[in-house]
Amino acid sequence: MADLSLGLYGLGTMGSALALNIAEKGFDLHVANRSPDRVDEFLEEAAGLAERLTGHHGLVAMIDAMNAPRAVILMVPAGAAVDATIEDIRHHLVPGDMIIDAGNADFNETRRRSADLSAEGLTFVGMGVSGGEDGARHGPSIMVGGPQTAWDQLQPMLEAISAKHDGAPCAAWLGPDGAGHFVKTVHNGIEYAEMQMIAEIFGLERSAGTSHADIGAMFSRWNAGPLASYLIEITSIVLQARDHLTGEPAVEAIVDKAGQKGTGRWTVIEALKLGQSASVIEAAVAGRGWSSDPVRAVASGVLPRRAEAVDLPETTLEAALIAGRIIDHAQGFSILSAASEVFGWDLDLARTAEIWRAGCIIRSAQLDAFASAFRAGPPEGHLALSPAMVALLDQNVPGLRAVVASAVTAGQPVPALSGALAWYDSMTKARGTAAVIHGQRDYFGRHGFDRVDGGADRHGPWWRDV
Ligand code: NAP
Repeated sequence: MADLSLGLYGLGTMGSALALNIAEKGFDLHVANRSPDRVDEFLEEAAGLAERLTGHHGLVAMIDAMNAPRAVILMVPAGAAVDATIEDIRHHLVPGDMIIDAGNADFNETRRRSADLSAEGLTFVGMGVSGGEDGARHGPSIMVGGPQTAWDQLQPMLEAISAKHDGAPCAAWLGPDGAGHFVKTVHNGIEYAEMQMIAEIFGLERSAGTSHADIGAMFSRWNAGPLASYLIEITSIVLQARDHLTGEPAVEAIVDKAGQKGTGRWTVIEALKLGQSASVIEAAVAGRGWSSDPVRAVASGVLPRRAEAVDLPETTLEAALIAGRIIDHAQGFSILSAASEVFGWDLDLARTAEIWRAGCIIRSAQLDAFASAFRAGPPEGHLALSPAMVALLDQNVPGLRAVVASAVTAGQPVPALSGALAWYDSMTKARGTAAVIHGQRDYFGRHGFDRVDGGADRHGPWWRDV
């Protein structure tokens, strides 16, 4: 680290916060930004920390002012901006220099960039940073992918700026090339599902006529129990806030359309490619899509509608969310496990859970238990099958079932909670309905099937008389 010259390009929300964090921890940093005025503005905002920061009015000027070996952190939007920035600087860098993409990225692009740059002796690091602006400023969770030698060089700085859980840094090297960005992507997928399930519980309570403030207070109570988490905490604050213009609950002043930048969708795409189905995350991505579908505005006035109140005890709703959270994480970790197998990353799932315990958006009291479950080696490597989770699911799935049943009967949409229950009910039936699908496939396409008695005959009686 001592001889590594650090630079950061992209002084937006995340880049500015990360730069201040790096400077505050005692590391010198060069900074630049596409719009040069932002550099001057940023140095002014940095106040006392500016003495550790050297601003440049151009990216190449910054590279030229840095001594090799260099580590250039990019904090720009995913995709074309990253490729264009790499093109701008690659010929100004020398073997041994490093480019760190600290934004969210499609891990396939990270793998491509890693291979491309390594041919020139340049190191590419794909680094997931979670925690939003406040996390980046005061301690994010950091998921690093790339050569282990790069981690060895960066470790002192990354551990210094990361969040700490009981003193342990929430930063880790997770594997080569795209491993860090993949883990960050799945982290965000889990986050999408958590947010959706919390929003669904809000919707049910609102249907029962509970005020926003009271629903917020309920989340606040839950934050002192097993559901304690950052997302529950901020939801309680958001729901209790009043709009400064109308005086009404702040969320009612917000347009009811959820956007998405891509990480939830990437999680689902990669899961499906890996033969996994993360029903809770899929439902959360779909839920955001439905919310912004223009058809909804018309359909809500045309299609016959059922929307009755769902009035369930608070403990039942809480149990539903506990079960939903376990299933959401279990599905997310299964995607990580499948990717690790296919890409040869040897991901440490317990360590991954540990670095999510502080700093990141999905930090929760349950991550400690998830890490312990992985350390103990659950059956089939599946989180939901660890003895501790089996006990928790036994206690809380009845609540999930009651919530989904009541919501479905009342016409209240709970796609993510339903997705969690559908997975649970499918997994707990040793013999389901797949045999009918095989029968259909054999009937229309002579695809054949395996017999339960192990017999050699692979076709059904429907082909005998043909
Ligand atoms: P932001 O506030 O919009 O800032 C974007 C930065 O990128 C600005 O410095 C902007 O420069 C620069 N930029 C935009 N387009 C560019 C281009 N074509 N070429 C070069 N520079 C360009 O975004 P952000 O929230 O900081 O996000 C940055 C990255 O972090 C993204 O990958 C995002 O997904 C990821 N991330 C964000 C969060 C979050 O909570 N916001 C959390 C985790 C990860 P100008 O000043 O010239 O516009």
